[in-house]
Order: sequence, then structure tokens, then C-alpha cells
Amino acid sequence: MIKLNVWGGAGEHGRSAYLLSGDRTHILMDCGVKKEGAGAYPLIQPELVSTLDAVLLSHAHEDHSVAIPLLYKMGYQGEVWTTRETREQLNTYFRAWRSNLERAGYELPYEETDVESIRYRYLEDQAKPGIWFEMIPGLHVLWGRSGHLAGSVWFVLEMEGKRIFYSGDYTSESMLLQEDCAAEALRLASLFRGKEKSSRINNLRLSQGMAVGDGIPFAGEPRVELAIANENSGISEVSLTPSLIKSSLNQPMDLAIVDAAYGTDRDTQADKLEQLDRAIRQTIARGGKVLLPMPSVGRGQEIILWAHEQFPGVPMIAEQGLLDGMKQLLRAPYWLREQGTHLKGPLRGAIERFLKGQSWYLPKSQEDRERLLNQYGASLWFIPDGMMQSSLARWYYSQLAESGENLILLTGHAAVGTFAQKLAQNPAEHGVCEVQKIRYKVHQGWLDVERMLQRLPARHTLLVHADKAETDRLREGLLKNSPSPEAELHSLSPGDELYV
Ligand SMILES: [Zn+2]
Ligand SMILES: [Zn+2]
Repeated sequence: MIKLNVWGGAGEHGRSAYLLSGDRTHILMDCGVKKEGAGAYPLIQPELVSTLDAVLLSHAHEDHSVAIPLLYKMGYQGEVWTTRETREQLNTYFRAWRSNLERAGYELPYEETDVESIRYRYLEDQAKPGIWFEMIPGLHVLWGRSGHLAGSVWFVLEMEGKRIFYSGDYTSESMLLQEDCAAEALRLASLFRGKEKSSRINNLRLSQGMAVGDGIPFAGEPRVELAIANENSGISEVSLTPSLIKSSLNQPMDLAIVDAAYGTDRDTQADKLEQLDRAIRQTIARGGKVLLPMPSVGRGQEIILWAHEQFPGVPMIAEQGLLDGMKQLLRAPYWLREQGTHLKGPLRGAIERFLKGQSWYLPKSQEDRERLLNQYGASLWFIPDGMMQSSLARWYYSQLAESGENLILLTGHAAVGTFAQKLAQNPAEHGVCEVQKIRYKVHQGWLDVERMLQRLPARHTLLVHADKAETDRLREGLLKNSPSPEAELHSLSPGDELYV
């Protein structure tokens, strides 16, 4: 029996931390913070910290990562398993969290030496995505890209006879980032289990458009192409028959912890882009400016590239922080799709063209900003800081706030107490410009969760990353649509436990 302790992240947005305890093995998945006031940290049980065998980190965002130093302060001496890309981004998130707190007059609950004590191990040094490896004795792990952020991953764990899936933050609808379907990866991995040492498996892919074992009957000539590189013989391609594939269908998970951050929102990314397009066009048509505050890395780069194609004649201004994020994407090509979705042509080319382009402006000084604001009427302004806490974001707001033609367009989560959240709640209190919130998807909504449940059936599924009331509503809705008596759906709160 495995026990799950929710130290944070279920029934709330933030401080993701899930402890899995078996008879012999204790694993923590993520350890983040909830951005409220001094920060809400996971409900770590101090007496258990020294029993942890490993910490797995899904990605660099602070709601998954910045409480890790606290574990070291409490005596953890083990390793943190993540990707190299996540490691590269972590310094920025640790630093940002520290300066956020300092600015607000709060203190960090750990020291810089605790940050320096973190011992990282890299997943890709052990195994490629979709290949099982033994992380520590008795714990087998399979990982893949989760499409949420460069470096972000999902995990499948096998410990003490149980199988556990953790989606991390997950989306299959990023315009830029590739995700690996966990169900497909598992099926293919099972065909090769135990053979990893004799063949170096270079590339596993399902032939286009085929869904294996998703309840969709095999049509035509389905084929799985496997490119296997033997040390001596080079690459050979083999095709597998449907019956062989069927025989590799997955055993159900014992537990799945699934990103359900958007709760009952049923929109697809295409729906969201349509809504964004409409809001921007309306503002442009009346001669207004659109302010788009974005986190430095993530959806900002996606929306910039999309808007650049979508509104070719409209002046675009992008601040340095967001351009740095764009350059960073080029340094991490492994995490990118080859072909962007909702974007034209190969993705790397599109990013390179944008960075070389002359069709947008980069303000280099405060004077530049003021000049550009005066020069352009209808225009798009991409600025860093999605929560609008920085002085730069507040300054931009003050410049646009006094005209009803302008639009502040919020596209992501705004934590309680932040300026973006206050603005969304009561725009008229701060200015006369229009404020709209249209979410750009970097997590899963109702339909995505439904699809994940079908593809990765689990005896217990825990829906996470949204507040409790919304998670309850989603759970009700899912149960109504597809009641499955043998599978249990859970909506839990921090401090809760679950035995699987
Ligand atoms: Zn995230
Ligand atoms: Zn998150």
C-alpha cells in the first residue's frame, strides 16, 4: 500500500507538494509555494523530511520549486531529480521569490546556503523520455515532456508494485512546446522493457494520426515505426502489428495526480485565441492600445509570435524581458515543436525571423517608452510581469488607465493580493480603461482532463491545481458524464491523505 500525503497543491493554486510513502520508499514530488503575502509553504511534516529518498521536480515555476531549500534546512540530504533546462531556470525563480518577499517586507524562511545545498541530478543523464530507469533501488521512473514550460516533465513511478502518474503542469495545446503523450510513451516503453541495454532506442513514434487502444478501432494499416539503433548495426526501422501493440496495452495506474487547473472551463486553445483576437481587434478598431502583461518566460513568447502573425499592420512594442525569453527558447530547441500550432511554418524559423525582424519596437529607455506611447495610437504592448507587481508594469498601467479606448488584457493566473488580481476584480476602482481576462491555456481544462482519464485510466485520480470549490464542480461534472464505478475521482485539500 502506498500513502499519499498532500502537503499542498490540491484544492488550491500553488505550493504543489505530494509525498508518496511505501514500506521502504519515500518520494516527494515538487515543493512549491503559494504566492500570498509572506507565501504559504507546503505543510511539510518535519519528522518525515529525513526519511525522504528522493525529490522529483516537474518544472521551475515557483509554485512547484521554491520551497525545496526549506527541505534542506529541515535536514534533507538527498537529491533533486529534474531536467537540465529546469535547473537553468531555477536561479531566476529563486531570486525572484526572494526579491518579491523583500520588497513586500517579508523574510524568506530559509538561507542562501540552503539553496546552495541542493544536489541536482538530471533525468536526461539517466534515460531518454519514454525509457524506464531505476532512479534509486526499488523505484523505477519514466518521464516525458509536459508541454507547459521548456524543461517541464511528467513522471510515471513504479514503487512497491504500484504505478503512479504525476502530470506536473500539463498541456497538449501549447503553440510552441512539444508534449509527449504519457499513454503512448508507456505502451511503447513496455515493448522494450528490459531491452534498453542491448539496443539504444533512438526514436519511438506512432505513425501519424493513429491512436492505439483509445477505444478507436484499428483502421487501414496502422503501424508503429520503431527506429532502433544497435551499437554496431546502425538504425533499423521495424513495424509492429496491431496484435503486438494490443498485447502491450497498459495496465491501469494505481494513482494519477492530474493537472486540472482550469476546472470546469471547457474551452480549447482555439476558442481562447478567438476570444483574444476579438478583444484585440475591437480595441484596435477604436484606436486604443492593448497592454499585455506576461510572465517573462512562458505564454508571453507564444502570444507575441501569434499576435505578430495575426495583426501584421499593428505596431507592436515588446520589452526586453520577454525578448530574452524568446532567445532562451532558441537555446532549448529540444522542448519546441517542429511545427508550431496556430502559427505558420517551422517554428525555429518563425522565432529567428521574429528576433531579426524590424516590425516591432524594443524600448531601450524611459524616454523611448514615452516617445513610443505618444507616437502610436492603436498598438500592442507586451510587458513583463503577469501579476503587474513591478514598478514598470504599474507605470505602463498608469499611462493607459485614463482612456476608455485602451484595454488591459490579462491572460493568466493572478495570485490573491497582486495588482493584476485587484484590477481584474474591480477595474473601475483604478482607472477608466477596459480590463479583460481571457486565459491563454498552459494547463488542462475539463475536456483535457477527460481525455487524460480515458487514455490513462487509474484506480484513483486526484484532480489538482484549482481551488476546492471549482475542483468539486469538475469532479461532479466528470462523474456525471462518464461514471466509471471501478475508478475513483478525488478532490482533496492540503493536509489530506489517500491510500492506494
Ligand atoms: Zn507551472
Ligand atoms: Zn503550477
